[in-house]
Amino acid sequence: MIVIVGAGLAGLACATRLEQAGADWLLLESSEKPGGRVATEITSDGYLLDRGFQVLLDSYPTARELLDLQALKPGYFCSGALLAGGHGLEVLLNPLMHPAGILRDLATRSFSLTQKLALGLYGAARLLAGGDGDGEVGHTALEELRRHGLGGDILEGFLRPFFAGVFLDNDLGTDASVLRNDFRKFAFGRALLPAEGMGAIPRQLAALLPLSRQRYESPVAELLRSGERVTGIRLASGETVSCKALILGTEEPVSRRLLGLHAGRSWSQVTTLYFTGVDPLYEGGYLVLPAGRERLVRHFADLTNVVPSYAPRGRRLLTATVLDCGNGIDAELNRRASQEISAIFPGFVSWEFLKRVDVPEALPSQRPGFLADQPTRLQGCNLWLAGDQVARASIDSALASGLRAADELLATLS
Ligand SMILES: Cc1cc2nc3c(=O)[nH]c(=O)nc-3n(C[C@H](O)[C@H](O)[C@H](O)COP(=O)(O)OP(=O)(O)OC[C@H]3O[C@@H](n4cnc5c(N)ncnc54)[C@H](O)[C@@H]3O)c2cc1C
Repeated sequence: MIVIVGAGLAGLACATRLEQAGADWLLLESSEKPGGRVATEITSDGYLLDRGFQVLLDSYPTARELLDLQALKPGYFCSGALLAGGHGLEVLLNPLMHPAGILRDLATRSFSLTQKLALGLYGAARLLAGGDGDGEVGHTALEELRRHGLGGDILEGFLRPFFAGVFLDNDLGTDASVLRNDFRKFAFGRALLPAEGMGAIPRQLAALLPLSRQRYESPVAELLRSGERVTGIRLASGETVSCKALILGTEEPVSRRLLGLHAGRSWSQVTTLYFTGVDPLYEGGYLVLPAGRERLVRHFADLTNVVPSYAPRGRRLLTATVLDCGNGIDAELNRRASQEISAIFPGFVSWEFLKRVDVPEALPSQRPGFLADQPTRLQGCNLWLAGDQVARASIDSALASGLRAADELLATLS
């Protein structure tokens, strides 16, 4: 029996591959449902609150391989953004997805023609590049942008608010390869939300797997070993399960604790504030990017413009992403966030606060020096790792790492 610990996307992808291969496997998950960091709470009055603002890109290759995107009944964001800076509100569209928007893009006043050309050149270089994240290594996303003439207004008005919200890293100190990879994925793809929330993604994967092989509310407390080999696991309940191979699809700190290793990388935290109202603030499925380094709200979006089912009939749902706010008191945080959003959309004063969702361990640090796509097998051991402990931190990388771990394990066993 192969035991997989963790039913996040990495663990579910692993299970999918093992099931396809006809292997004998068992998935053990500590919480009551699959998905890990990709989850949706359905409130009693019918709002869909994702565990932090997340999107799935239809350009993700492994997601396309494993998921039936149409069955998710997706709503798509406009590929671009609504810039909220010193020149009022301006739409910026991705010319690859909205070619008719090029003239409009050229006319935006938020940044200069030289900067627009620099952005076009950087984009073209990304599209022509062979690999997803290849290029020079050892520097940050911020350094990469500045080296390509993308500092100043275009940085503070577009690139920082956009990518800080993607990396959950306000300083853009993330490795430049992550920027290159994400730039390409966003340029080629459209961001979508499933009609039933992001939690529908892991649910779809889990529904294709035999229920008898998935055990929830079963936290693994300890690995049982004989020398280097893992012979089984002990659950928190005391029950033991023996195995011939083990896959840890858990978050890095959990894996390291189970392996008896010291703490690993630092993690970013993110807070999402949900607000509800009746009157629309703006039209179109845009992410709104408030310009400026010192903003509390990094970006926000009216999700009902993208997927109406995120709110009950007649209501709207706005998500606002806040980085580095620590455990700030709700009332003060809401007041500041509301003030910032109302300064852009005065009608927001009639909206109400709905809920605060904190993800204290959202993404592991991907500062220069971190390695995407590390070996999944622990040397000399019948143990494999999957998830963003061995790959980039994204939905697609989690899925791909799960397939990779399963393939490598199957190849070893055969
Ligand atoms: C707020 C936020 C926004 C994001 N936005 C995006 C985005 O827009 N696009 C994108 O591509 N990616 C995004 N990501 C990243 C993406 O969600 C993650 O990289 C990915 O989901 C990680 O999946 P995973 O399977 O590696 O880990 P996890 O989802 O963390 O899964 C680990 C699983 O292991 C379980 N587990 C832990 N300990 C035990 C134990 N002892 N026993 C049994 N089970 C255990 C956990 O409960 C969990 O289910 C975002 C992440 C966050 C948090």
